[in-house]
This record gives sequence, structure tokens and C-alpha cells, in this order.
Amino acid sequence: MSKVLIIGAGGVGRVVASKCADNPEVFSEIMLASRTVSKCDVIAKEVGKGRIKTAQLDADNVAETVALINQFKPELVINVALPYQDLPIMDACLETGVNYLDTANYEPKDEAKFEYSWQWAYHDRFKEKGIMAVLGCGFDPGVTSIYTAYAAKHHFDEMHYLDIVDCNGGDHGKAFATNFNPEINIREITQKGKYWKNGDWVETEPFEIKKSLTYPNIGQRDSYVLFHEELESLTKNYPSLKQARFWMTFGQEYLTHLRVIQNIGMSRIDPVKYKGVDIIPLEFLKEVLPNPGDLGENYTGETSIGCRIKGIKDGKEKSYYVWNNCSHQKAFDETGTQGVSYTTGVPAMLGAMMVLTGKWQGKGVFNVEEFNPDPFMERIGEFGLPWNEEINGDLEV
Ligand code: NDP
Repeated sequence: MSKVLIIGAGGVGRVVASKCADNPEVFSEIMLASRTVSKCDVIAKEVGKGRIKTAQLDADNVAETVALINQFKPELVINVALPYQDLPIMDACLETGVNYLDTANYEPKDEAKFEYSWQWAYHDRFKEKGIMAVLGCGFDPGVTSIYTAYAAKHHFDEMHYLDIVDCNGGDHGKAFATNFNPEINIREITQKGKYWKNGDWVETEPFEIKKSLTYPNIGQRDSYVLFHEELESLTKNYPSLKQARFWMTFGQEYLTHLRVIQNIGMSRIDPVKYKGVDIIPLEFLKEVLPNPGDLGENYTGETSIGCRIKGIKDGKEKSYYVWNNCSHQKAFDETGTQGVSYTTGVPAMLGAMMVLTGKWQGKGVFNVEEFNPDPFMERIGEFGLPWNEEINGDLEV
């Protein structure tokens, strides 16, 4: 029986809140806090089963978060606001001695650069305080990292090649929309790509490496190598990896829109004067694009995300593919939001459950692959994200 504070009332926050409310034996009291309290109230009303309290919070302000934590006294804070809030929320957790969990690593607002260094630097302070921070507990990072840990534990003596494959085979019927916060999403995919090879990073131009990969129940999709944050921690935690890459599917229509957005300057993150006011073009663009949390209603098709791994077991070469397919429609019917928010929110809830029930323990800052994957893998199916595996099939990569 534990109290949990969820920060962020977007698509992911809705799923986390809904799933926590479904499991009162672990989450005995729930508070949902965000910048716009009316969004918390809607979520509490629609999926809270009468069990969610709400509060207004600017999580950039450490003192405000400290005050809310002191008032509500949670055992864990689940941060599903934006990556910019990671450090101020971690500061508030340190000050109050409360555990922390998130789904995306810190990014400074004025630079599209995401890496774990800032959050890993909190390790000693969290350890001294006797609390834990769980980093990257969504789907990717999150489940993909746990799949890798599971493969390392049960299927390989040494892993050599890791390819994380992320396909959204869904159709939301809009000309252009992103599946999670457009500002964060566009910052991520317009950067140069990067993958791990023989102990070093190889940099690529955005969308330079392309391959058609086959996804279960979806078929062939153009997939592109891009940098994704779990590569940083997985290559550190599994030094036997000779190569580690992340692939994501994009349709031609999406890429054309993206190219135009970049060419006309709408993806810029530096301030521009408009009628005497400083505006950031990408922040403005977010306001006019469809809200990812509202895409669910007519969203058809599935996501398919997994890990394709090659390595050695008992002296022989082995390949292993582990994945989940998630239906947008089923996610919407259950929580009122689409599959990408669902595949992120469910693991965040289950990670929180792992911490609060003592299945994952530690003092300091950890990436999810550092914990025992088994209790998580045993339960993730029952919460809506069952997994499949194939041994010694053709990995295509
Ligand atoms: P949304 O933009 O839909 O929601 C973000 C929420 O955070 C909004 O409610 C927003 O408030 C709130 N927020 C923003 N700034 C503050 C602040 N200063 N104080 C308090 N609340 C604030 O994003 P998503 O739900 O799509 O994504 C949430 C997180 O999940 C992101 O960090 C994203 O990167 C991560 N993610 C991780 C994935 C994974 O697999 N690991 C996949 C997809 C997303 P307001 O409503 O007022 O704008």
C-alpha cells in the first residue's frame, strides 16, 4: 500500500493514472499534478475510478514540487511531464527523500541534446540519501532495455549485435501529427543519427541509413537508423556489444512534412521576434499540430516494438527476437488514448509497482536494465503489453 505522485497530465500521464487507479492494492493513494490542473481533473474524472486527487504544479519550480511532496507525502514520484523537468523534479525528490521514476532523459530546453550524463551525476547524492531513481521506464527506453536484460540473462552468454526496432504501423487519418509531444519528438528525429560500433559512436546524417524491415502482423516498413537514449546505457551495461542500433519507421508523407517544417524554419528552437514578442518556432508549431493525446479515436493499426539480438550461447551462434504489438484501438477503448501513450504509460506504472513492492531495489540512480527483468516480464502481459519471442529466426538486420 503506497502513495504515488504522478507529474504530467498528457497522453502518457492519462495512461499511468488510469493503470495506477486500477491497482489499489499497490497504489493506495494517487495524486496527479500538472501545469494545467483542468487536464488533471478531466483525467481523474474519466479514468480515475474516484481514486485520484489533483493539484496544480509548475515542476520547473523545485520549491513548489517540494511543498506538494511534503503535503501529500508520496513514496514515489512518477515523472511523465517533459524531459526538461527531470532535473528539477529529481532535486525535489532529493530534498524530500522520495524515490523517482521517469520515461525520458533530461534535455536542456535551449539545446536539442539528450544524454544521461546530467541524471547519472545524481547517483552519489541519491545513494547518500538512501533513495532510488529509475530512469527511462517507458517502452523505448524501458521495455526495450528490459527485453535486452532478459535476453542477456536467459538467452546469451555474450550478446554481440543489438537492433531495437520500433514500428508504428498505425493510421490516425491526419496529414501530419506526432505520436507524443511534438516538440520533443521533432527535436529527437531531426538530429544527426548515431549508432555504436566496435567501442565507438558512428555519426550519420538524419535518415541516412534506411532498410525495409518486416514487422509481425504489420508487414514491411521503411526503417531508419536514429540515435535513441537507451543505446547510451545499454552499451555501457553490456560491453560485449559490438554493434547497437535503433531503427524507427517513417512513411514518405511524414518525412516530406518534416522536411518542409525544417526548410521553412519551423523546427528552430532559438527565439524569434514576432510582433515584439520572443517566440520559439517549434513551441509555436506544437500549438497548431494535433494533440497526440487526442489522436486515439479513429486510430487504426498497431505498433510493434522489439529487440533483435545476435550473440553466443553454449559456444554456438544464436539469434533472438522479442517484441510486443499493441493495437491503437484497444489502447483507446481502455484508456481513451492511443498506442504510443499506452505503451509508455503501462511500463511506467509497472516499474513503479516493481519499486513499491520491493522487486526492484537499490540506492542511487539506475537504468531499468540494471534490475532483475523477470518480475517485470512476468507481469507486463497482464497489464496489456504481452510479448512474443522467436529463436534463431532471420533478423534481417
Ligand atoms: P504531453 O506533452 O502530452 O504531456 C506533458 C505534460 O506535462 C502536459 O500535461 C504538460 O502540461 C505537463 N508539463 C509540461 N511542463 C510542465 C511543468 N513545468 N510543470 C508541470 N507539468 C508540466 O507529453 P506525453 O504525455 O506525450 O509525454 C510525456 C513524457 O513521456 C515525455 O517526457 C516524453 O518524452 C515521454 N515519452 C517516453 C516514451 C518512451 O517510450 N520512453 C515514448 C513517448 C513519450 P500542459 O498540459 O500544461 O502542457
